Amino acid sequence: MGNTMADGKPGKDPAIRDFGLDYEIMIGCEIHCELLTKTKAFCACENRYGGMPNTRVCPVCLGLPGAMPVVSREYVEMGAIAGMALDCEINRFTKFDRKHYFYPDLVKGYQITQYDIPLCKNGRVKINTAPPSAAPVWKEVRIERIHLEEDVGKSLHIEGAHSYIDYNRSGVPLIEIVSRPDMSSPEEASAFMQTLREILRYIGVTDGNLEEGSMRCDANINVIIRDGGKEYRTPISEIKNMNSFKWIRDACRYEANRQIAEFVEKRAAGKDLSFDPGYKNTMGWDEAKGETVVQRTKNSFVDYRFVVEPDLKPFYLSEEFLASARSKVGERPQEKRDRFKAEFGLSDFDAATLTAERALAEWFEAAAAKSKEPKKTANWVVSEVLAAVNEKNTDTAAALASLAVTPESLAGLVNCISDKTITGKQAKEVFAEMLAGGESAEAIITRRGMKRVVDPAVIASIVDEVFAENPKAVEDFRGGKTNVEAWLVGQVMKKSRGQADPQEAAALVRRKLR
Ligand code: ZN
Ligand code: MN
Repeated sequence: MGNTMADGKPGKDPAIRDFGLDYEIMIGCEIHCELLTKTKAFCACENRYGGMPNTRVCPVCLGLPGAMPVVSREYVEMGAIAGMALDCEINRFTKFDRKHYFYPDLVKGYQITQYDIPLCKNGRVKINTAPPSAAPVWKEVRIERIHLEEDVGKSLHIEGAHSYIDYNRSGVPLIEIVSRPDMSSPEEASAFMQTLREILRYIGVTDGNLEEGSMRCDANINVIIRDGGKEYRTPISEIKNMNSFKWIRDACRYEANRQIAEFVEKRAAGKDLSFDPGYKNTMGWDEAKGETVVQRTKNSFVDYRFVVEPDLKPFYLSEEFLASARSKVGERPQEKRDRFKAEFGLSDFDAATLTAERALAEWFEAAAAKSKEPKKTANWVVSEVLAAVNEKNTDTAAALASLAVTPESLAGLVNCISDKTITGKQAKEVFAEMLAGGESAEAIITRRGMKRVVDPAVIASIVDEVFAENPKAVEDFRGGKTNVEAWLVGQVMKKSRGQADPQEAAALVRRKLR
């Protein structure tokens, strides 16, 4: 993150042309995230991505007259779990509202959402603003609210023919996470989305699948410009529906540039530079052109005619409900990272790598628990195990589950290195066999006769044999040929088929020669 200095203050982004102005970027995000409940939000239809269009629908999610919605308990619980993971307060009393607007994919003509009493409010999340290889620099981003709302259908436009609508997604449970405008660079906005995705996937409330649109980000961006002792604000742009970290960064960067350039142009033309909070550009990001595209501009707020949803009663959340939700939050990625560093003495890099996915973190912990050297175990997981996982060409959890090496068997291998049964070099060979055949390290070592001999009495008898078989060499050494010593150690190693402890062998040879 090139434009964020170590003190957390925004510096100059070389990708943003500032015309010599003193400026500050403000970005707030609204993130829609689909939850992994079994059913849709207000009906019993299965909540799953894809499928033949319009096969996972019913009168409720099709908005047929007279159909009555019912709130899924699992939906509210997952919303609360997400809120707790983002340090929010949970509103004990909450309700649903109708937001009216007209669009073909919105079948009822209104969306069930939460207007003035969201389920969660006043949260926070820490994002890392340092470049990937540097020590982390934390910045807190405030979460204004998280509310529950239903997703809408999907329009499909066949060029030159017709438009179709698939309502399978209609009524899928969403949370909308609204941040305060605390991000001060395009990179920070991107990091915010990445951090949220990581946390929400970790606690198991979403699959975070960006390609399938499980998480979509709207970014609100404008620029504060200080010039000639005065402060100006550019009009806010809302860039809708971005489902890639790169898009968020590129779109915000483009928009900051565009807004600053527009300000300079307006000022040169002597135009009005005052800030109208009611004015907003709604935009999309055109990835092919690398530009934001205006979808609509509005000078006044759209009236959504919010009303309390009359078919769903406002409700209270019990202490038991909240306690149960809290017990399901679990350890968040950053907490796990900090604990791994403290408990196992891991580096920032290893801790970050091992906690990037919950399945990997749990696999490592299971191995570390059985291992005499957790730090050495971490090295094996970060290098060898991850390499094997990456070869599987599937997601980490599935790859780990299908691996012939288990956490227990890796711990067994590491323990064989720790107690000097085998060398690190031999361990690589053993690991390859473990991966191929699922045999334990101990079994492979025994079968291949790799067990290291450390008993001085056993090595001493081999040394005696070597000396007896090579009287000339011993004589040469006494005559001044000192390099013979290393040769004799080599003979001992050879005779033991590489199993003698090399240090012990060298010490015994040296003692016998002198
Ligand atoms: Zn339904
Ligand atoms: Mn929304």
